[in-house]
Amino acid sequence: MSGPNTNYDPVETTPLQVEALEQMVAEAKAAFAQAVTVADLKAARIAHTGDRSPLALANREIGALPPQARKEAGQRIGKARGEVNQALKVRDEEVRAAELQRVLVEERIDVSLPTEIQPRGAVHPITGLMDRMGEVFVAMGWEVAEGPEAEAEWVNFDALNIHPDHPARQMQDTLYLEPLETNTLLRTHTSPVQMRTMLDREVPIYIVCPGKVYRADELDATHVPVFHQIEGLCVDKGITFAHLRGTLEHLAKAMFGEVRTRMRPNYFPFTEPSAEVDLECFVCHGESVGNPDRPCRTCNSEGWIEWGGCGVVNPRVLRAAGIDPEVYSGFAFGMGIERTLMFRNDAADMRDMVEGDIRFSRSLMGGAR
Ligand SMILES: [Zn+2]
Repeated sequence: MSGPNTNYDPVETTPLQVEALEQMVAEAKAAFAQAVTVADLKAARIAHTGDRSPLALANREIGALPPQARKEAGQRIGKARGEVNQALKVRDEEVRAAELQRVLVEERIDVSLPTEIQPRGAVHPITGLMDRMGEVFVAMGWEVAEGPEAEAEWVNFDALNIHPDHPARQMQDTLYLEPLETNTLLRTHTSPVQMRTMLDREVPIYIVCPGKVYRADELDATHVPVFHQIEGLCVDKGITFAHLRGTLEHLAKAMFGEVRTRMRPNYFPFTEPSAEVDLECFVCHGESVGNPDRPCRTCNSEGWIEWGGCGVVNPRVLRAAGIDPEVYSGFAFGMGIERTLMFRNDAADMRDMVEGDIRFSRSLMGGAR
């Protein structure tokens, strides 16, 4: 066993010397002063006040001192620690204030700067035009009616006086749904909605039926297999062809502004008499007719544009719907939405309308809504 180490002078233990402690304090202060961010200061704090910091390690040396030396050493370390903690506190406030200032500058939002506006979604020009045409009639007290797109053959054809030998009923024109025994097809016009309304409701009837219709057509510049129509039907006492004419003139003005209309005799199975309704060309106003120097693309220099079909409801159709043609009469009309959009907005190619390119929709956005 060895005796106590009498040569050992605990007070002279290096880490507890005044110079050493002053050095630790100075290094801590320097580290704090160099810290620029909160993260820098945290690292400096751990290094100079943490459990493994020089001051903490020096503090542990106190236990090795003889009791009479501990008090003085403790005071020295306590003073050094106090000084370091005070310096840390002051620097902490400075760093936080500087960081706040930096954030305020860097993340400042200038509310007066122009922003990049996200475009809002909008309805397709076809839908927009269909809605708008419906609104013209709603404003006159008419109702908007809807019906199924998969329709019974009887309602789509027979009830509308379209006989089984009519060419429209052939497979190459009409999309029949399987199994064929169900006699169901994709409606070829919106007229079945008129028939359904007549079957369901009491007269008087004032309805418009906008919607999708289907034909067995290839997609090209002037044909689409799925397109949109709006049809109208009114059944009331004392309705004449003059009411039809006045109604369509009102619709034409609402759609195209001041424009003349004309009626040409035609044949439709469900109306009698029937007519084709034409619009005066609103581009050349007829000035292109016989004037090769001023050809008009819109009307093919004919001065008039075919718009839709119309007529007085055939008494057979009224009878099929259980309405007495001796008491009531009515008129019906229908036109293509795509065709109306082509005239109204000078959209030359029907394929643009179905391809979903937003540039097309955007170019018409001002006009169709
Ligand atoms: Zn023209």
